[in-house]
Order: sequence, then structure tokens, then C-alpha cells
Amino acid sequence: MKGQPENLHARKRLFLGLLLASMVTLCLMTAAIWYLVLTPDKSVLQLLILYGLVAVVAGAVLLALFGICGMLITIYWSKTVRPLQIPIHVAVNLLFPIVLTLGQIFHIDKDRIKSSFIEVNNNLVRAKHLIVNPRRLLLLVPHCLQNSDCPYKITVDINNCRRCGKCAVSDLLKLRDKYGVILGMATGGTLARKFVRQYYPEAIVAVACERDLTSGIQDVNPIPVLGVTNERPNGPCFNTNISITRVEEAIQLFILGES
Ligand code: SF4
Repeated sequence: MKGQPENLHARKRLFLGLLLASMVTLCLMTAAIWYLVLTPDKSVLQLLILYGLVAVVAGAVLLALFGICGMLITIYWSKTVRPLQIPIHVAVNLLFPIVLTLGQIFHIDKDRIKSSFIEVNNNLVRAKHLIVNPRRLLLLVPHCLQNSDCPYKITVDINNCRRCGKCAVSDLLKLRDKYGVILGMATGGTLARKFVRQYYPEAIVAVACERDLTSGIQDVNPIPVLGVTNERPNGPCFNTNISITRVEEAIQLFILGES
């Protein structure tokens, strides 16, 4: 996409490259099954099972190939191609476990791969050019943003925050009030899913670590999610931080169509 810094392109390339490598892996699997078909001395039942396997894997390869092409076209044109939405979904869900396995084999950090996936997802969401009513936009943030010394119980009611400025919660509340969006603070995946069921948002801006964002984006599909990874200067799940500018840009993208 025009105007994006080089490192964002590099981030996207990692996931897209691993997706292509996963495709090659699936093709090799198909070839291996086909080789078994061609070897002699098999019963009719064995042959039928092998033919079935070839058909299933080859079908999945074809659909995933359309999906990868769909992703590349969408990101390049910054425009959604409707008929390719299902293949894109299939490609991500089918190939993601293979992508992670390949990453492990090549000693690529899991968080780097997930961060790359989030970047690709954000590009696909931007390409939809959605305009969402702020009251149908859920800003979902993790509890670890709250300062650990804060005595106020904000998971029960986030309005208990006294906005002292010691953590990002006060800035998030300012954003909520400024744009009129829904703000939900989740202590984990279960509560996050409850918020989604409760508010049934048209779109979500989600703040979390790479792992939670990746699973969350896949869980709530087809609801579009713009993911913003949190900063973890004190390690995971403890006194984390967030770039409020990036969160505000994501909100603006959904409600104003720009950032
Ligand atoms: S901003 Fe709110 S949540 Fe954060 S430390 Fe202050 S009172 Fe607690």
C-alpha cells in the first residue's frame, strides 16, 4: 500500500511468504498421496480412500491458492474482491497451522509470524472501506493495561477508573467519550467473547498481545477487527502499555473512513 513504511511491508511479507510455503507443502502432500495411488497391489477400498484424499487435498490447495491470490490482490488494490472472501478465509484457517509449523522448523519467532498475520489482516480490513456507527464499534482492551498498584476495580465497571493518568486506561476512556464507541476491558478470551456476544458490534478495534489478537481475529470472523498490539516493557500481562495514537487511528478508520 502506498505511503506505508518499509518495515510494514516486510512484516506482511513474512506471513504471505509462509502461506506460499504452506501451499507448496500441501502440493507435496498431494503428490505423495498420488504416488501411493500409482503403486501397485492395492485393494479397491484402499484405492477409493486414496482417490478421496487426493480430491480433498487438491480441492483445499486450489481454494487456498485462490485465497492467497485474493489477499495479494486486495492488499495491492486496497479494495475488497467479494468472490474471493471465502477462499481468503479458507486459506487463513487451513494454512495457519502449517504456517506456524514451518515457522518452528525454520526457527522463526511465533510472535513475529503472528504480528505479520495481524498486519495482513489489518490491510484486508482497511480494504473494506467500512464506515461504522460509533455505537456499534467495540474497543476491546486487555486488563493488563491497568496499573498493578491501582486500587480501583475497573473490570467490573471501567467507569471506576479515577483517570489519574498512571496508566493508559484514562486515555482510552477519553477516546471512548470523544468518539462515543463502546469500551470493553477483558481479563481473558472468555470475557472478550462475552463482550462480542453482548454488544454484537459491526466492527472491533482490539488491543492485545500477538497471541490473543491472532486467535481473537479468527474467533470472531466475519466481524472485521483492526488489531493493535500492546507494548510489554515489564513482560507479558503486567503493566502493559499502548500507543493511543494507533488506537485512535484505528477508531477513526472505522467511523470516519480515514486515519
Ligand atoms: S488511570 Fe485509572 S485505572 Fe489507571 S491507575 Fe489511574 S485510576 Fe487506576
